Amino acid sequence: MPVLTTTPLPVRAPVLVLLPVHNEETNLDRMVHDIDAAFAAVSHQSVSAPPFILFVDDGSRDCSRAVIEQIIQQRGQAACLCFSRNFGHQAAVMAGLAYAPADYVVLIMDADGQDPPYVGFELVERIWHGVDVAYGVRRNRQGNPLKRLAYWAFYRTLSQLSNLTIPLDAGDFCAYSPRAVQMMTSLKEQRPYVRGLRAWIGLRQVGVPYDRPDRYAGATSYSWKRLMQLAADGIISFSLKPLRLAMILGLLTFLVSCLLGGMYLMLYLFDWNIAGQRMREVPGFTTLILVMLGFSGLQMMMLGIIGEYLGRVFEEAKGRPLFIVADTLGRLEPTSVIDR
Ligand code: UDP
Ligand code: MG
Repeated sequence: MPVLTTTPLPVRAPVLVLLPVHNEETNLDRMVHDIDAAFAAVSHQSVSAPPFILFVDDGSRDCSRAVIEQIIQQRGQAACLCFSRNFGHQAAVMAGLAYAPADYVVLIMDADGQDPPYVGFELVERIWHGVDVAYGVRRNRQGNPLKRLAYWAFYRTLSQLSNLTIPLDAGDFCAYSPRAVQMMTSLKEQRPYVRGLRAWIGLRQVGVPYDRPDRYAGATSYSWKRLMQLAADGIISFSLKPLRLAMILGLLTFLVSCLLGGMYLMLYLFDWNIAGQRMREVPGFTTLILVMLGFSGLQMMMLGIIGEYLGRVFEEAKGRPLFIVADTLGRLEPTSVIDR
């Protein structure tokens, strides 16, 4: 069982900004510039140095790695974990949390400018003031209206299905206190749904509303297929209700088939007729086909739901690591640069 450390947080605990990166070569310079600007704007509040930046290069195929190398050389106070291949956004976030030094506040942001750094600083401030988890809540979003609608529907479905209160419209944009980081990294799931796990750990949490802008440049790495996968992970890891629904549907179909079966049996046995038509003379082909198709469709659907859960149990049982760090850039152990 993970045990929480209870040491009080220093008011200006150092900050590590975690940026998961997948093909973001055009955005990284601007992102780092904006982070530094957001934190410098408040330097009078005794934050004496820029935050440490930890990139997680999630198998980028563009020049992201070269850009990161350059940033590390020029700016300092930065490092990068390079994955051996693309393991996915959620794995990248978990890796960054796992590598964060123990006494750091961790701020997770998308590397494409959609999580504004000045709001990120606000989240960090909440942590400094004693909250454990401060997450951004999207007041509105830009981009594809169909995707926006899908997100909207997904968050509401998840909250209906899950027994846990998972905040609506909150993504991975979030700041964690050191003890919240410790809790998060103690959870060893093969397919982590980070924003759900974050709600699961509890502690003191607060949502901060913000307007989500469009990405600086480039294209999203989340295709419809990957979004659906993430949604399935979210629902399946946080709810057993689809299984229960399958059971209820199964029960209902069984009841209906009993009724229908009984009815046809009576019609046959007593030679009753419907609208002058004697049952014994009706081949019943259409009914048979309809009933068969309907019920076998239902059965397939239920098997599918069970299969989804079973597949995940299988993955957990294999116990493979969530990611592989092939190499690292820069010094990973941040030097203590922030006055405490
Ligand atoms: N990302 C990642 N691995 C992936 C996909 C995305 O590390 O396999 C990063 C990406 O570089 C960005 C963040 O996760 O920093 C969010 O991704 P994206 O902007 O593509 O998603 P969207 O904002 O469209 O949901
Ligand atoms: Mg994005």
